[in-house]
Amino acid sequence: MPDVHVVGGGVAGLVLARRLARGGADVVVHEASDRLGGTVAAHEIAGIVMDAGAESFATRGGTVSALIDELGLAGDLVRPEPVSAWLQPARGDAAPLPATALLGIPGDPRAEDVVAIVGRAGAEEAVARDASRMPADDPLLAPGARLGPLVRARHGDAVLDLLVAPVVHGVHSLHPDDVPLERVHPRLRAALAETGSLSGAMSALRAAAPPGSVVAGLRGGVHRLVSALADDLAAHGGDIRLRSSVDVPALERLAGAGGGTVVVAAPDVLPASAPPRRIDLVTLVVDQPELDAAPRGSGLLVAAGAPVGARALTHATAKWAWLADAAGGSHVLRLSYDDLPEDPVASARADAAALLGVALPVPEGTAHVTWFRPAAAIAPAGITVVGETAAGSGLAGIIAHAEAAASALAAK
Ligand SMILES: Cc1cc2nc3c(=O)[nH]c(=O)nc-3n(C[C@H](O)[C@H](O)[C@H](O)COP(=O)(O)OP(=O)(O)OC[C@H]3O[C@@H](n4cnc5c(N)ncnc54)[C@H](O)[C@@H]3O)c2cc1C
Repeated sequence: MPDVHVVGGGVAGLVLARRLARGGADVVVHEASDRLGGTVAAHEIAGIVMDAGAESFATRGGTVSALIDELGLAGDLVRPEPVSAWLQPARGDAAPLPATALLGIPGDPRAEDVVAIVGRAGAEEAVARDASRMPADDPLLAPGARLGPLVRARHGDAVLDLLVAPVVHGVHSLHPDDVPLERVHPRLRAALAETGSLSGAMSALRAAAPPGSVVAGLRGGVHRLVSALADDLAAHGGDIRLRSSVDVPALERLAGAGGGTVVVAAPDVLPASAPPRRIDLVTLVVDQPELDAAPRGSGLLVAAGAPVGARALTHATAKWAWLADAAGGSHVLRLSYDDLPEDPVASARADAAALLGVALPVPEGTAHVTWFRPAAAIAPAGITVVGETAAGSGLAGIIAHAEAAASALAAK
């Protein structure tokens, strides 16, 4: 009889299972599909192996880097190239994202790169609104408070709609009105209390961040994390069962079988607070030397109302040097869609040409992948839940949460 059943072989389930197995527990991982990793996956396009889902992780807290170190992959930790991301506004020309901003919220609203996006009047409104000191008991900071109302009150509609909303959508696939303050930055409330203003808080948080990029990746792709976790889990006696789907009755049987602990690390098992959101990724590999100059840096976030269907474009070969090497002079462009166009590849090619300002030839290879981003799970008492439905989206938070859950279970 195993000590622990882990339902779901995505990164969260694997991290938790590996940690418990290394501590001597007898662990079984039930994975419904025929591969591990969930939304961390690889695919090959035009002979180039690259990430099909997540492609980077936040370095905040150092949790992912520590795990990568333990797994012997530290030598393959890579930083993105130091090129800016851009924003395509609803009207007008694309512009680089402001250097002083965090999640699009400007530390200096009068900076020229902010004015280029929100206009002079929008910048002055932000300065005027943010001039009075925020009291610590401001209702905008109450428990459960969301980012949208805070930015609207302190920086105005132009900053929220033209700058923050497209960036937040690109990162979280959500509108700022749906993003709790805690998801923006773990120290946001403290920084607001200390500085008394939104711009001041952004400046303080940026100043406190370690120098360099806030994200990192792995040479060859972050999907390498999955096989490294699975190998180490197996080496410590973990039992990985593919094509082993667990539904609620099966979950109850496992939980009732006596002795063993059940951990849910899969989005489809427990009732959810909302339906999952669909996201379609279309990747193009193109031979176009004009893209060598990375005309839009590492890519663009697209504001609602812009005349293209894509919500974001990543110029992946401009962002990752290892991928540029692997692509041998070709370019990898990845576009994301909330609403899938009828002909995804043709639309992606037209959108990419419009966003990058460069005519694009027929691609050397293409791929279209559909993903679902789950909402929070409603967990019954006594069941441990890890992963995106419990910790929110993003590998850094999910891995830290799964490690903490493993420690708590091991201590029982
Ligand atoms: C397109 C895209 C890009 C992203 N990019 C990034 C990024 O760059 N950086 C970042 O930090 N995060 C990124 N994310 C988010 C990140 O990938 C996820 O938050 C994270 O991988 C979720 O891991 P998880 O283990 O919680 O769930 P999942 O990866 O969803 O894994 C759950 C697993 O459970 C299995 N399963 C489902 N139902 C059952 C069942 N009934 N029984 C058994 N098994 C089951 C599934 O097959 C799956 O393997 C991205 C997400 C998407 C969709």
